[in-house]
Amino acid sequence: MQINEAEFVCSYASLKTIRLEPRPTIAFIGRSNVGKSSLINHISNRKGLVKTSGTPGKTQLINFFLINKSFYIVDLPGYGFANVPVAVKEQWLKMIWQFLQGYTDLVLIMQILDLRHLPSKEDLEFNRGLKQAGLPFRLIGNKVDKLKKNEIKPKTAKIVKSIQATEPLLIHSDLAKIGKAEILAAMEERLALFTEEP
Ligand code: GDP
Repeated sequence: MQINEAEFVCSYASLKTIRLEPRPTIAFIGRSNVGKSSLINHISNRKGLVKTSGTPGKTQLINFFLINKSFYIVDLPGYGFANVPVAVKEQWLKMIWQFLQGYTDLVLIMQILDLRHLPSKEDLEFNRGLKQAGLPFRLIGNKVDKLKKNEIKPKTAKIVKSIQATEPLLIHSDLAKIGKAEILAAMEERLALFTEEP
């Protein structure tokens, strides 16, 4: 799959307010600053589609992008940012989980991890939530450019073990432009299950 067209559709503050025609939807989530915005821009060939910034925790809305006029990519707020009051963090998480469990067109969730570190407490908790809810997900190990070549395998294995992943991590770097084809293939595989034959 190639992404030829990508356009911003709308941002919503809660599941209840979403008014969109049904289309297969793939959500991206990760800790703030994990490189989620850069990754979505990279795979969709659109530099400014999702606004990136060094300010963690800026995205607090559910942002919908229409891709190839056929499916949606959803950019979810980052989780686990330290300098946000607990009550606000809990409110964001509640909104995220209401969306993940209530949005019936969701066909895949891409959880992005930082390959440099073992999964954080928030990464592990979030992943446990996905498994408990029986939601379909894939894990992306991001910022692979930050690792030396001989570090990639052992580091990835440690992360897989820590998060008890049953599928291999998709490896990505926006900086080194690595992993786009594999992420798109994983998306295409899921989308194919929900797209009617012409
Ligand atoms: P978000 O908060 O998860 O949406 O992350 P952003 O896409 O805004 O990126 C957060 C920071 O990580 C920025 O300083 C980016 O320049 C940096 N970043 C994003 N992707 C990569 C990558 O693949 N490699 C490296 N080394 N840095 C990255």
